[in-house]
Amino acid sequence: MAIPNAQYEIPVLKALIKLGGRSTVQEIYPVVEKIMFSLLRKSPGEYGSHKSSKEPIWHNKTRWAREALKQKHELLGTEKGVWSITPLGRERIDLIRESKSDPDSLDSEDDKQNLLTEYTDFSEAESIEKVEEGRRLLRYHYVRERNPKIIHMAKQIALKKYGELRCEVCKFSFKEKYGKRTETYIEGHHRLSVRDMGQGHKTAVEDIALLCSNCHRAIHAKYPYISVEELKAITVVS
Ligand SMILES: [Zn+2]
Ligand SMILES: [Zn+2]
Repeated sequence: MAIPNAQYEIPVLKALIKLGGRSTVQEIYPVVEKIMFSLLRKSPGEYGSHKSSKEPIWHNKTRWAREALKQKHELLGTEKGVWSITPLGRERIDLIRESKSDPDSLDSEDDKQNLLTEYTDFSEAESIEKVEEGRRLLRYHYVRERNPKIIHMAKQIALKKYGELRCEVCKFSFKEKYGKRTETYIEGHHRLSVRDMGQGHKTAVEDIALLCSNCHRAIHAKYPYISVEELKAITVVS
């Protein structure tokens, strides 16, 4: 059985972490091979030689995985000949270790269902008193904001769209201010407000606004929270 290119992504990330975050292509091959040992043993075809390059097919797939990871901002693509993992790449591996599921492939029905479970609770909330509703909503809000997978996905979508992470309200960029170590840092804020309740929202990642810590705090400073748009409107532009 041939191994899909995408299955090389996680071994490449893991190999880079083992190698201290950076390596050359020649350094990474043996580490990837070791990580994939049992899978490669079951797939001897991967050792066949590639039509044009004449090297083992799995070398070729490893490099394909690198390209895919660059697209996802999980590897850096700037330094020639150097494979280098980004904080977002490390975050993916951390999330896999914590939850045993890959945040980059949350597309099975089960996963979607899990992301919506907390929300489904709310449809029952209609008959419950207003205060209770508010409490449930608040809990839901924090559950979502503490869900590192949703935040990870939201960041990836933003990076794909804009190539960088900026606060939706004030346009602050952590990277611009604090440099590379914060290049994938931003906070996720759940947009759903008390007023949106009962409208049957079914969005997931789209519900997450990416905000700098100041704007996020400003929203949470006083309950009931204001919306991202309302904060934008009252923000003093300096
Ligand atoms: Zn901001
Ligand atoms: Zn928030």
